[in-house]
Amino acid sequence: MPTHRIRKPRHPSITPLGAAGEVTGSCHLVDTGEARILLECGLFQGGRNADARNRRRWPFRLDQIDAVVLSHAHLDHSGLVPRLVRDGYQGPVYVTPATRDLLDIMWQDAAHLQERDAQWENKWRLRAGKQPVEPIYGIDDARAALSCLEAVDYHAEMTVAPGISLRFLDAGHILGSAIVCLHLEHSRGRTRLVFSGDLGNSETVLLRDPETVAEADLVLMESTYGDRNHRGLDETREELARVLAEAHAGGGNVLIPAFAVGRTQELLYTLGQLERQGRLPQAQVFLDSPMAIAATRAYERHVNLFNHADRAELAGGGLQGWLPALRLSESTEDSMAINRISGGAVIIAGSGMCSGGRIRHHLKYNLWRREAHVVICGFQAARTPGRALVDGARRIRLLGAEVAVHATVHTLGGFSAHAGQDQLLAWAHAFRTRPPVWLVHGEPASSEALAGCLHDRLGFRARPAAAGKAIDL
Ligand code: ZN
Repeated sequence: MPTHRIRKPRHPSITPLGAAGEVTGSCHLVDTGEARILLECGLFQGGRNADARNRRRWPFRLDQIDAVVLSHAHLDHSGLVPRLVRDGYQGPVYVTPATRDLLDIMWQDAAHLQERDAQWENKWRLRAGKQPVEPIYGIDDARAALSCLEAVDYHAEMTVAPGISLRFLDAGHILGSAIVCLHLEHSRGRTRLVFSGDLGNSETVLLRDPETVAEADLVLMESTYGDRNHRGLDETREELARVLAEAHAGGGNVLIPAFAVGRTQELLYTLGQLERQGRLPQAQVFLDSPMAIAATRAYERHVNLFNHADRAELAGGGLQGWLPALRLSESTEDSMAINRISGGAVIIAGSGMCSGGRIRHHLKYNLWRREAHVVICGFQAARTPGRALVDGARRIRLLGAEVAVHATVHTLGGFSAHAGQDQLLAWAHAFRTRPPVWLVHGEPASSEALAGCLHDRLGFRARPAAAGKAIDL
């Protein structure tokens, strides 16, 4: 967890404790003097010392936190709440109803992975005569955290602590994602604080565009893609159609490693569109991931949050009715049966970076085949098998074995769930005045680039926030 101890600030303030100069570990302490809330409580992911940072002492007193507010379910924003609860936090955790549904899936899965990782690590630790490690949290902690969730609908006004009220707006990033608007009363007056959360890509299917906000006194804004724009979605859809045609002609399978929440549902919708246009020649699309299946069901329970056009197209049939070729593979036996199919299928499975999950088995059975195709459509962190494939590795290690890469690997760039630079600027442009903007959730180059554009093109005073450095309200 956050590296910096917080001294009692002299003024009402907000202090970024993570996701400052980086894109994970989102966590900001809002202190009005009267009350304290945590805005996000996310896991640090990737990087050599992520585990140590996730285990670090909290830089605040848990019994002084009145409430936690989460913008969305992604673990880099929400994934340390079970540890917070395990360590003694007993207050409410405010989320949207759809975020609550997704957290039910994601926290239990995260706890399961952490228990498994600790078990695995302890095998060699015991052999080496070292102390065993504890998982950061376990399944019981995840369940206890789930019982703290309080759902608040978009646009509803909610008092979350003395002098602090909350309103969620749709951020269009993943299902249930929110822009967080806080009204803060403190000794120096009032502050309307707007936290962008992660802003969606307005080209994304299914979800609505991020809502804009007119009034703010202080803005905390994400800057993940502050230095670039994405390739268009139409172009990406055409590329996918070409891969499907090529694979069909050559008789190979198409493997798509995909994140369970968001990317998978976008893919199902897009494949359904292609099927309607007669451009999905494959008769079977396997969704081989219990977590992605559960997430798809959560999306289907909240179709009322989809944008009008896509919701009308789905016409009440949900994503499964939309894509008749879809086959859900929940059990291990179902998954293993897919391994016997040597061609003619589309296989969507996790993990998105091929570092775990069932996709590894499918890669093992297909990568060495010249007629197979792999479609990479999400971010691939350094030192993951997915990144090795993107970088053109001729052999990769999977499940303890070397596998030759003879399949064709395609990288599709247009499926981002984040707003690109132009979209970030358009969102900021909607503020009626030009409040100070602090940039978080971006690598330094992205945050600096966005700060420059916000200033030069729109007249904002925008700066990257620094971890542990309080911003006065
Ligand atoms: Zn996110």
